[in-house]
Amino acid sequence: MFAVLSFWEKSSLVEVDIAIVGGGLVGLSVAASLKEKFPSKSVTIFERSCLPYGASTRNAGFACFGSLTEMLSDIHQMGEENARELVFQRWMGLQITRKRLSDQAIGFLPAGGFELVDSNQNYNEAVEKVNFLVDDFIPDYISLSNAHKSTLGIVATGDVYSMKDEGQVHTGELMKAMEKYVLQLGVMIRTGSEVIGVEGNSLTIKDQYRGNIDFSADKIVICNNAFAASLIPDVEVQPGRGQVFITHPIPNLTFRGNLHVDEGFYYLRNVGDRLLFGGGRNIDFQAEETTEFALNEMIQKTLESKLNVLFGEAFKFEVDQRWTGIMAFGDDKRPIVKRLDDTIIIAVKMGGMGIALAGYIGEEVAELIN
Ligand SMILES: Cc1cc2nc3c(=O)[nH]c(=O)nc-3n(C[C@H](O)[C@H](O)[C@H](O)COP(=O)(O)OP(=O)(O)OC[C@H]3O[C@@H](n4cnc5c(N)ncnc54)[C@H](O)[C@@H]3O)c2cc1C
Repeated sequence: MFAVLSFWEKSSLVEVDIAIVGGGLVGLSVAASLKEKFPSKSVTIFERSCLPYGASTRNAGFACFGSLTEMLSDIHQMGEENARELVFQRWMGLQITRKRLSDQAIGFLPAGGFELVDSNQNYNEAVEKVNFLVDDFIPDYISLSNAHKSTLGIVATGDVYSMKDEGQVHTGELMKAMEKYVLQLGVMIRTGSEVIGVEGNSLTIKDQYRGNIDFSADKIVICNNAFAASLIPDVEVQPGRGQVFITHPIPNLTFRGNLHVDEGFYYLRNVGDRLLFGGGRNIDFQAEETTEFALNEMIQKTLESKLNVLFGEAFKFEVDQRWTGIMAFGDDKRPIVKRLDDTIIIAVKMGGMGIALAGYIGEEVAELIN
């Protein structure tokens, strides 16, 4: 059923120059880049939920570019040049976001990134290879940092490598600052507006009170990441749920920074004196390939025991909150940013590192629109 629009609504409110589907960090970054490039164009974001409901408000807040073993796996999967390009995009994207919003506004801390790897394996050559690849933008990116192990309080076996320039953001503050920024540029954000169809220059919005409403737009940018298949059925994106918990404050916690474990399948950081721990998708891939936000009890339990292994008897922790978010994956980690026709552009599949990437994706989309 379609809503009956008033004369005023029809004449002023349902036509926009650029429509963006999805109000996560990528939708907001795309809006920012477009409004910076085309200040006189009207840009409207359609977000289905009151607060963005995907990954951007539910992540771990690592401002990261790729750990040693993640990069090795990417090189193996998609070749050196593509792996390097992806790290560059994340690094560049983070510079754009930090410059746009300020470190203070997004709670950016240059806290440092670490990875715990199997000490039976010799990574000397691999480190050299990775560092050579990214040398022109992050010199001396990865180094062996076992000295940090005791400062971090880690007792689990393994070597610790550090990733230079990695940091943390306060995810909530980042999203708030980004929304404020685009609103101040004149972008309109329509929440509670699920886009249920896109055809030609028209978007159909589901309105629970009055029926569907059609908007028209010269350009439509689809930024709904893991949910893209609901609008573009043949898009090659699979959802991947991420399980997370945060502890109550832990007295005398010495751990500061980000720790990647098991090729990035587990991720741990401090939030003040709390620990935020997430991951474990790899132990139940099938169940986690979903757009449902439910908790997975088995993975949550595994996270708890893994945290005990990492820190041993050093402290006891109590979980304060648990939640999930939905990421978007595919055959490899490269995002999909492309024009589908004269009107529609798609910018989805941000994987597990969309925080740093988002700023770059915004610029890439702006390049596609003249
Ligand atoms: C648990 C977890 C931990 C993570 N940790 C990190 C991390 O530490 N560092 C990092 O870089 N990345 C991390 N990520 C990944 C990162 O959060 C994502 O890559 C990034 O947020 C993707 O942003 P997005 O805007 O593309 O997607 P989303 O944030 O998912 O935004 C898509 C938006 O589209 C909306 N939407 C969907 N369908 C429709 C529709 N039909 N109409 C209107 N709106 C619609 C959704 O409600 C949602 O708000 C993590 C993700 C998760 C889940």
